[in-house]
Amino acid sequence: MLTARNFLFLTFALWAMSLASAQTVATRETPTFKRLKASLDAIPAIDTHDHLWPFEILPGFVETDHGRGMTLASLWRNSYFPGFNRLTPWKVGGSFDQWWVEAKSDFADARAASFYRYQLPAFQDLYGIDFDTITDAQARELNDRIFKNYQDQKWIYHVVTERANIELMFNDPYWARLKLKTYYPFEVLVFNVTTLVRGFHSSEFSNPWDSPYRFASDEHLELKSLDDYLAVLDRLFQKAKAAGAVCLKTTLAYERTLLFENVSKENAAKVFGRPRQELTPTEAKDFEDFIMRRLVELSAKYDLPFQIHTGQARIQGSNPMLLVDLIEANPKTKFILFHGGFPWVGETGVILMRHAKHVWLDSVWLPTLSYTTAKRAFHEWLEVMPSDHIMWGADCNHAEGIYGATEFTRRCVAEVLAEKIDRGDLREDHALRIGKQILRDNALQLFPQLKDRLWKHKSKLEPPSKSVNESK
Ligand SMILES: [Zn+2]
Repeated sequence: MLTARNFLFLTFALWAMSLASAQTVATRETPTFKRLKASLDAIPAIDTHDHLWPFEILPGFVETDHGRGMTLASLWRNSYFPGFNRLTPWKVGGSFDQWWVEAKSDFADARAASFYRYQLPAFQDLYGIDFDTITDAQARELNDRIFKNYQDQKWIYHVVTERANIELMFNDPYWARLKLKTYYPFEVLVFNVTTLVRGFHSSEFSNPWDSPYRFASDEHLELKSLDDYLAVLDRLFQKAKAAGAVCLKTTLAYERTLLFENVSKENAAKVFGRPRQELTPTEAKDFEDFIMRRLVELSAKYDLPFQIHTGQARIQGSNPMLLVDLIEANPKTKFILFHGGFPWVGETGVILMRHAKHVWLDSVWLPTLSYTTAKRAFHEWLEVMPSDHIMWGADCNHAEGIYGATEFTRRCVAEVLAEKIDRGDLREDHALRIGKQILRDNALQLFPQLKDRLWKHKSKLEPPSKSVNESK
């Protein structure tokens, strides 16, 4: 029976429930979030991972009916979208209208997907266009503006350093790993060692800029035995360090398991000098495992922390838990687990719990893979580890992607912190400190040499004018 007292109680309960659900649904509408987000936006970020090619050879440049340039198609083609969703290819020399008439329906099944949504802030904030509701006329205009912006590399400087507010950006030059060269003044060199584990034979390297054999011959070093190879690796580390590299990076998780066994030097030596077709898969893996363990030791010797791709690559074998033995056996090496181990974000959390002295988590790419998983990761990580062990990166190869991924990360971190504040689990001043740690301070603490390269407090970066057709 519904008495007056029960009715009052029921009304109150419903009111309380609606309040609670409104709070969880719309964190981004809360004053707490808005204050935090504004503060985090103002922090000049240290972005620990991107793939920004030299301007003249940006992979997005295509031939159009107006000449060579960047298009709306380029921005989608060179994003994470086509890895998961159909995208109409650009025809060499083609026109925008020709592409768009087919491409505009490619987005229908991706409206909720993070690999689509992470680019939307760039269209909204840099061009004032809501891509979810874009019209044909707006799309044409957007394409023209993109083409015009990329006539000069000033656009990249503007978007990266001013709009995305990135002060320093680590760059992984996977297109020429051993060239050890930078192209932008805000760029920090990363030494990508992925291919080095395959150094048992010169035929493993089709790109000369990935080949330790080319490097050895340039350096007049003999390379005829495993011992020679280990000496070449040592020289490479010296060169990388001298060129300004601050860390190592490997993406082996795309090719093989992350389980690196402790293989004897004797066994590895038997493999050296033989082409792959003469090796069993186990022999090739033995050699790779042996070299990976040497790279981990060199990482400690040269104080170059090791960024390791974990999670979502080749799925069987990319679980970060497979690295635990390697981590445990090398307490002097600083390991950085990339992508938070997606989807195994709880697993990377527990690894940190046990090995916080020499392991860091990098949320690079995570909000782009799944915004919700990233939120869960930040929520959980901050509960199980010290807040000075989390970093972030954009992981993109054009200005709009970098902007979108950066905005996504700032938003995600602000949302997590705001939720912790509003449910009474964190003070706002402490939250602000944590946000600044993730976006900036933790990278500066792990890479103190970067403090000398900070420039935002004193100057504006004036890019040398460099036009799209300069390489032609
Ligand atoms: Zn990457």
